[in-house]
Amino acid sequence: MPAVVIGAGPYGLSAAAHLRARGVPTRVFGEPMASWSTHMPAGMLLKSTADASDIDAPRPGHTLADYCRAAGEPPCASDWDLVPGETFTRYGRWFQRELVPGLERVRVVAVDRGPGGGFEVKLDSGESCAARAVVVATGLTGCAYLPPQLAAAVPGGPTPAGPVSHSSQHPDPAALSGRAVLVVGAGQSALETAVLAAEAGAAVRVVARGRAAVGFGAPPDRQPRLRPRSPFGRAWSLYAFAEYAGAFRFLPAPARHALVRRVLGPLGAWWLRERFTERVRVVQGRALVRAGTGPGGRGAELELAGGAVLAADHIIAATGYRVHLAAMDFLGHELRAALARSGRAPVPLLGAGLESSVPGLYFTGLPAAASYGPLMRFVAGTRFASRRIAASVADG
Ligand SMILES: Cc1cc2nc3c(=O)[nH]c(=O)nc-3n(C[C@H](O)[C@H](O)[C@H](O)COP(=O)(O)OP(=O)(O)OC[C@H]3O[C@@H](n4cnc5c(N)ncnc54)[C@H](O)[C@@H]3O)c2cc1C
Repeated sequence: MPAVVIGAGPYGLSAAAHLRARGVPTRVFGEPMASWSTHMPAGMLLKSTADASDIDAPRPGHTLADYCRAAGEPPCASDWDLVPGETFTRYGRWFQRELVPGLERVRVVAVDRGPGGGFEVKLDSGESCAARAVVVATGLTGCAYLPPQLAAAVPGGPTPAGPVSHSSQHPDPAALSGRAVLVVGAGQSALETAVLAAEAGAAVRVVARGRAAVGFGAPPDRQPRLRPRSPFGRAWSLYAFAEYAGAFRFLPAPARHALVRRVLGPLGAWWLRERFTERVRVVQGRALVRAGTGPGGRGAELELAGGAVLAADHIIAATGYRVHLAAMDFLGHELRAALARSGRAPVPLLGAGLESSVPGLYFTGLPAAASYGPLMRFVAGTRFASRRIAASVADG
């Protein structure tokens, strides 16, 4: 089998569709759109506009708007059409049925070098298969990030039953009804989690750390017309990241790492402002010192710089995702060691065609952001990534 794709989110599905369209026999493993169906809150809306939320396909007829038309869903075409997360999940599954038939809903548990070159891929079904090329498209899986002050409070890991959880652990905001909740973070995920919990009947405060400030983007009719359009909004810098993603990897490593973290920093979507302002309180401008359980081992408390202690039933860390090779525990030790040697560990450094320093091993989506920039954190990046991967594997 020449190619294997690990992961069936937007990036894995898009890469697989392009590989097969080029005639590369490809097996695809993973639960379709699992991050979207199990780790995003019910009721969420996409921050990206409808036309920046297409999963790139090798032939016409498979955009989000095409899906909405085919399925009779409300139109998803203009910047004013907000796209529910549930619609996007259904779109991804439709894309899979149309373009990636034969997807195998199993987990990959190990990838190692194969005895005769290439790779050996082991599945949780007990089966093994050989592959000439492996595309890792495991996205957000295992990459949920907690700042050290919060991580220290939950040595066994975050959980909704303990004092601290991660925002990815709250697919049902209604479960927070009647509880006092602190949401740490100031990005879209933090602000939307806060709003959905408050609308479900929780008493919510957002804690925006340090210099992070709560802010919202401008609606489509108030965005500056003279600045170019990009999948992330109107701005020259954002346009450059979208149009020249291929040049990003030639920047010095410290600049790349800083840009991936800081560009598109905390900013809520324009449509969230009113809902947020009406229901959520903000504690802004102080660093976190410590988190833990409240008095008597019940609830949670959060100490901020300056000595203030906030008490609540629970703390949600909406503090994003960070890629780390350790999150891809299915990669064998030898492969991980080779990847870590290639660049500034713990992130694989990719060359042309999104191929890593291990020939035949490709990374796409979030793990490619350190090499190709912020575009890789968004569905719109599938257009850049999938075509290059398919060409590289087909020609390799
Ligand atoms: C709250 C939130 C809101 C977002 N909103 C937007 C938005 O509006 N617009 C936008 O463009 N992006 C948005 N994003 C980013 C979005 O998550 C990514 O753009 C997109 O999901 C990345 O796709 P992916 O395929 O790389 O990863 P994922 O969607 O995370 O998919 C990974 C897949 O890999 C599978 N997998 C993992 N490990 C294995 C294994 N060992 N074996 C087999 N399968 C495995 C998983 O089951 C899953 O199917 C948002 C993210 C969050 C957290």
